[in-house]
Amino acid sequence: MKVIIVGGGVGGLVTALMLHARGIDCEIYEQADGIRELGVGINTLPHAIKELKELGLLERLDAVAIRTYELFYLNRFGQEIWREPRGLDAGYDVPQFSIHRGRLQGAIFQAVRARLGESRIHLGHRLGSFKQDDGGITAYFFDRNGSHRATARGDVLIGADGIHSYVRDTLFPNEGPAAWNGLMLWRGAVDWPQFLTGRSMMIAGGMEAKFVLYPIGAGSAPDRRLTNWAVVARVSDGAAPPPRKEDWSHPGRWEDLGPHLKRFRLPYVDVSHLIEATGEFWEYPMCDRDPLPRWSHGRVTLLGDAAHPTLPFLAQGAALAIEDAAVLAECLRHEPDDIAGAMRRYEGLRRRRVRRAQREAQRNGQRYHLSGPRALARNIALRALGGERLLRRYDWLYDWKP
Ligand SMILES: Cc1cc2nc3c(=O)[nH]c(=O)nc-3n(C[C@H](O)[C@H](O)[C@H](O)COP(=O)(O)OP(=O)(O)OC[C@H]3O[C@@H](n4cnc5c(N)ncnc54)[C@H](O)[C@@H]3O)c2cc1C
Repeated sequence: MKVIIVGGGVGGLVTALMLHARGIDCEIYEQADGIRELGVGINTLPHAIKELKELGLLERLDAVAIRTYELFYLNRFGQEIWREPRGLDAGYDVPQFSIHRGRLQGAIFQAVRARLGESRIHLGHRLGSFKQDDGGITAYFFDRNGSHRATARGDVLIGADGIHSYVRDTLFPNEGPAAWNGLMLWRGAVDWPQFLTGRSMMIAGGMEAKFVLYPIGAGSAPDRRLTNWAVVARVSDGAAPPPRKEDWSHPGRWEDLGPHLKRFRLPYVDVSHLIEATGEFWEYPMCDRDPLPRWSHGRVTLLGDAAHPTLPFLAQGAALAIEDAAVLAECLRHEPDDIAGAMRRYEGLRRRRVRRAQREAQRNGQRYHLSGPRALARNIALRALGGERLLRRYDWLYDWKP
């Protein structure tokens, strides 16, 4: 069997490793000319790290990530609402990693190069069309100027090409743009003095604006960390499209972000000072998409953000893509002679769980953004639940087994 993977993000690269580990031939086609350290922080939770560990990546990741120790929530005046341990410290077998997205992608990419070889990776190849027939699938790739670069023939095509997936757009041409909820996300990373344990993650704020802070790597000195921050603020009711198209690499503007920072009075960090020290930072309108009626059409299927872009309020973007990769590779290994059947089985195993995660992320976004008496009621309810019950609320998510 020969598999064509479109997209060299976390989802596409992990899929390549999963297929390779099962003896299935595959090639990756990525539109970017190089794998560079794009993005900022991302959290990868134990259920996904377990899969990466099975692929032998734990040491590589440990070398560039932070093992998250705790997560705590504050209101915008710095009063603590609750605090919980994470990863190994919460009793899981493997850590939760807070990591630079580019370093996560880079570590996986190095493993792909070493195991599959350079000849299986095609950078600067943008998928521009594909067609399937009884015997296989043919995909056409173009360079950034639109000139034809390569034609690939395979048995399966996996669209791991992100939130603006060309493959999804081809399968569902009437779907329209991603849905915006009116929240804007600004994010950046800066070398900054360690706060608390050097492995702590903080989420603060309410309805108007939320601030997130966590270290994602070593800093320029032992008492400093590469520190990721994010500010989420409501800038619209979401009825109109976002001011600029969602693009992970769009620079943010101080005049848009600055006014939201005045709300925060937090211990451990001077928010304005931190962000001024960052220099360049990024803006991203919080978008997701409604679930699809199906992901697969014959020999073609979707994976990761292409199949189910998810709001970041559950930290599942990368994790769900990694899970998809494990399940799809296993389905293809089990049913090599019935590809359409293997695809149906893959999405049958994935869609309910992914839908639940998407919905929970949407709900979390609303819960985090309560204010006034409703926020107070939420905080009292959380305290009443107690640490153990709170910790177990995501067992369905973190205890996942492929
Ligand atoms: C540049 C960038 C920065 C990001 N930064 C963050 C961040 O800071 N924090 C965060 O939580 N999440 C970030 N994300 C999203 C996060 O990486 C994903 O939610 C998660 O890792 C799932 O990954 P994925 O592989 O499904 O999609 P993605 O990571 O989006 O990868 C999709 C890949 O497909 C490629 N591609 C797209 N169209 C084509 C085509 N037609 N032909 C060939 N290749 C194509 C893209 O170039 C990209 O490399 C970022 C994504 C990108 C692309």
